[in-house]
Amino acid sequence: MKEIILLKYGEVVLKGLNRGYFDSMLLKRARALLKGVDGSFTFEYSQSTLCIRGSENADIDSAYSQMKKLFGVTTVCRGIECEKDIQAIKKAIIENGGRFLKGAKTFKCVAKRSDKMFPLNSPQICAECGELILDNFKGLSVDVVNPDVSINIEIRDKAAFVHGGGEKGAGGMPAGSNGNALLLLSGGIDSPVAGYMISKRGVAVDAVYFESPPYTSESAKEKVISLARKLSEYNGRMNLYCVSITEIQQTMTGICETKLFTLLLRRFMMRIAERIALETGAQALVTGESVGQVASQTTMSLAVTNSVVGIPVFRPCIGLDKEEIVVRARSIGTFDISSLPYEDCCTVFTPKHPNTRPTEELLVNEEKKLDVEGLIERAIQSKTCIRIG
Ligand code: ATP
Ligand code: MG
Repeated sequence: MKEIILLKYGEVVLKGLNRGYFDSMLLKRARALLKGVDGSFTFEYSQSTLCIRGSENADIDSAYSQMKKLFGVTTVCRGIECEKDIQAIKKAIIENGGRFLKGAKTFKCVAKRSDKMFPLNSPQICAECGELILDNFKGLSVDVVNPDVSINIEIRDKAAFVHGGGEKGAGGMPAGSNGNALLLLSGGIDSPVAGYMISKRGVAVDAVYFESPPYTSESAKEKVISLARKLSEYNGRMNLYCVSITEIQQTMTGICETKLFTLLLRRFMMRIAERIALETGAQALVTGESVGQVASQTTMSLAVTNSVVGIPVFRPCIGLDKEEIVVRARSIGTFDISSLPYEDCCTVFTPKHPNTRPTEELLVNEEKKLDVEGLIERAIQSKTCIRIG
């Protein structure tokens, strides 16, 4: 009898000829997530479930919580593997039922018998195990429609699995299975959520952070590094590029209309990000913009921000309210980091009355006052790269 972790795959199972590719990406990430966990682990996929077995000294608790970060998996559960014998199954239920049924008032048994040679059929397995539970765990009753806990008994090819249902997995597609994108990562709440959402779809994400030393501090940068680390817990290794835009902001001051500052800066950021994306093999940019959230995110502002780049710009938060973004930020663990009170380059130079109805012509004319190309080149020269994860 052995404790195991069972993972149920999501959309991956709908893949056709390229299924093997997605499976191998998922396994690669699962292995990486278990790297720092005590013990060694083996993986076996059969009947749309990945079974993870640990060595004697394996830290199953940590392995289990790591698996909740694995994209491509819809359900994560802990179970017991035992001999394919009704007495062994009953023993597993008696020894582990207390844990599976913790806090439950009602339960039902669900049996799945893929080995049709097993002497009992599914209703018989359920009847025997149900009775056993009623006899051994007091205060429980059966509810087959809406039970607090389902005790699952799966009769497989080589062994039987017993588990108490699972928890929701991270969902999405295996990390890195869907191309590369470059995330514009600020220290705010929205862009880490955007990065998480796009990497959940299997896109490998690198990030670029625009800093403005000495107006922005090392602590502000550390905050962004922490955010990138948090994201890499889900999507694996990433590069964080840091680019100084101090010269751009200083040059604009005094020459350009203050009410256009934010948009001019956003256009610089997009152009620089696009160049880094093309240099590093990313096919798209990702931002945390949400329509209407601030002046630089009205439809007209987004249009003039978008118009300076040719590659696709993904904005996964575009239709989310701030509240919805905050809920996500909390659940992925970025909210507390984002809430640290360090300055952002945009806020340092924010105009009091930003333009909310800009036109392309207005911005193009304003940019004529600047050596746009030279400023971009010099900003890119300042680029440094931090390896995360
Ligand atoms: P966030 O919470 O992500 O900072 P925000 O609501 O504060 O978003 P803005 O500051 O207008 O909005 O930024 C819009 C988007 O531009 C951000 O979501 C992010 O993708 C990008 N961005 C803004 N500032 C920076 C920065 N300093 N470095 C990298 N990207 C940035
Ligand atoms: Mg911001």
